[in-house]
Amino acid sequence: MTQCPTCDAGVTPNALIVGEIFACPDCGTELEVLGTAPFSVQCAPKEAEDWGE
Ligand SMILES: [Zn+2]
Repeated sequence: MTQCPTCDAGVTPNALIVGEIFACPDCGTELEVLGTAPFSVQCAPKEAEDWGE
């Protein structure tokens, strides 16, 4: 298991596919799978999100 870079909660994606984007179950941040061996994630870019900026 790895940790969410935003809230440090343990995260496990449904699919271990590099490039897969999933939401952290704790804080909802979208995370992108960087690698599977070892498993690592980063915050996914919010290209399609509307935060009112
Ligand atoms: Zn999180």
